[in-house]
Amino acid sequence: MKNNNTPKRIAVLGSTGSIGTQTLDVVSQHPDRFAIDLLTANNQVELLAKQAVEFNVPDVVICNESKYQQLKDALAGTDVRVHAGMDAVCDLVGRSSVDIVVTAMVGFSGVRSTVAAVKAGKTIALANKETLVAAGSVVTALAQQSGSEIRPVDSEHSAIFQCLQGNIGQKVAKIHLTASGGPFRTWEKADIAAAKAAAALKHPNWSMGAKVTIDSATMMNKGLEVIEAKWLFGTDVDDINVLVHPQSIVHSMVEYEDGSVIAQLGHPDMREPIQYALSFPDRLCLNNRKPDFPQLARLEFFAPDMDRFPCLALAFDSIRRGGTVPTIMNAANEVAVKAYLEDRISFYDIPQIISDTISGMDIIQDPGLEDIYATNDEAYAYAKTLVKW
Ligand code: MG
Repeated sequence: MKNNNTPKRIAVLGSTGSIGTQTLDVVSQHPDRFAIDLLTANNQVELLAKQAVEFNVPDVVICNESKYQQLKDALAGTDVRVHAGMDAVCDLVGRSSVDIVVTAMVGFSGVRSTVAAVKAGKTIALANKETLVAAGSVVTALAQQSGSEIRPVDSEHSAIFQCLQGNIGQKVAKIHLTASGGPFRTWEKADIAAAKAAAALKHPNWSMGAKVTIDSATMMNKGLEVIEAKWLFGTDVDDINVLVHPQSIVHSMVEYEDGSVIAQLGHPDMREPIQYALSFPDRLCLNNRKPDFPQLARLEFFAPDMDRFPCLALAFDSIRRGGTVPTIMNAANEVAVKAYLEDRISFYDIPQIISDTISGMDIIQDPGLEDIYATNDEAYAYAKTLVKW
């Protein structure tokens, strides 16, 4: 048993991405509390090697096996052990030296290693929302079996997690999940229809990776978060209310049966929910900007427009239907977003491809893990035929 004075050892899966680099920033501010045990990345050899040296990391994995030699060369003369491939990630993440696993990989590719960490009973700081969207029933059941604790990193879910503290066991009447509304919040439908990826990538409040930013423009990101909230907190989807809140100061709210609503507020900065997931239940200093209330002037809330943002309606519909429908939705969305980023399809082709992929596939009602992997592959292939890849 480690005592509280021993730094928690952290594995960061996807260390070169937006969440990964911000996690390392948090760790660097608290060397007495956190140390890095393992870093993994898909392709970014140079940054991964630099991080490995800076944080004195014993093991690194490059998922793209063709880049193994390049990483090995970059770390020649250091003590860092170099590995390659997803199997290495899954092996290393379960080892006894790891206390907390930050799952910051993008998309369904994050599911396999998250499952390995959950099976090993690790504390998970969950940033890969696709894991719960595509495999929520299986992953939550596995976590219960292994005793793995899943803490949210997504800012909205961290907010809900914080609003629940002190009220464990009390019945939640509603979760109010806030959404910035993305770059097209005020745009006419015809203008959104014609918008290219470059415009969609200009998020007003949050700095994030390309996939999440496009998901934010379509509001699929909020749809994925509704599903994520259902699995994290066991909330009925009918009790999850999406609210457009352009200022992104209220990160989400929990309404109790007596009508009392508890909100969590902060300046939008992902390092805050990342740090809370690592330090829970403690709160540590963070060199971030704090909300300046007189400067804020106003906080606005609107109902979402499902007509201009049909992906949100698709996500609600998918989780209500259950089974492998959200798995299919997630896979088709990944394909469609990639195609949109490459200017191969238009904005409203994204929901069309998702709904056509769902209609074109058989649904499994009570899937096991293998069913989910197979369904994801099939839905990927199906959606690719629709975008004529
Ligand atoms: Mg979020």
